[in-house]
Amino acid sequence: MSNLYSLKATLPTVFISKSQIANRVAELAEEVKNFYLSQNNLEQNENIIVIGVLKGAFIFTADLIRALKLPTQLEFVRIASYGDSTKSNGILNIPDLALPNNIVNKHILIVEDIVDTGKTASFLKQYIQDQFNPKSLKLASLLSKPSRRAVEIDPDFYGFEIEDKFVIGYGLDFGEKYRELDYLGILNED
Ligand code: 5GP
Repeated sequence: MSNLYSLKATLPTVFISKSQIANRVAELAEEVKNFYLSQNNLEQNENIIVIGVLKGAFIFTADLIRALKLPTQLEFVRIASYGDSTKSNGILNIPDLALPNNIVNKHILIVEDIVDTGKTASFLKQYIQDQFNPKSLKLASLLSKPSRRAVEIDPDFYGFEIEDKFVIGYGLDFGEKYRELDYLGILNED
């Protein structure tokens, strides 16, 4: 049966498959959970504040918190830097950083889709550190592209380290398309 993709264009090439993502997210959730259980002495029923970075991290965040099996309070901020291009223009457009006051002095985990130049993650870490004085502040990213780094930052937890390729799917877009793909793909050139 054809779908709308096959009518219009070929589906993006699989780069990291649905099952590879699922396996790695499960492993990563274990790493994150072990960190909170061993290092941080979470108080009984204490929520970890998970801050997903929209829009790209929405699927990863949803999968990660379900795999974590720890109590969380879920928040989102929205930051975009790419527009319709495949290279970061380095200008952070910050439409929504509204976060509730009850996240002051808590364990905070930022969840990103990808750390590329690192500017978004670095800005956000500093902002949260300054505003909310967290007990701990960690960064989990599905992907990391170390060869593109412009500022010194590395995710504390990451799913896959990748070379300098522009990836889409599993929440990541190109011009607002392809977020719904259940795998990470590479755009076909035509
Ligand atoms: P950074 O501030 O680290 O340069 O960029 C972070 C943001 O750029 C990511 O959260 C993501 O939205 C976007 N980005 C960076 N690399 C890619 C990529 O390969 N594919 C897509 N779709 N977005 C990317």
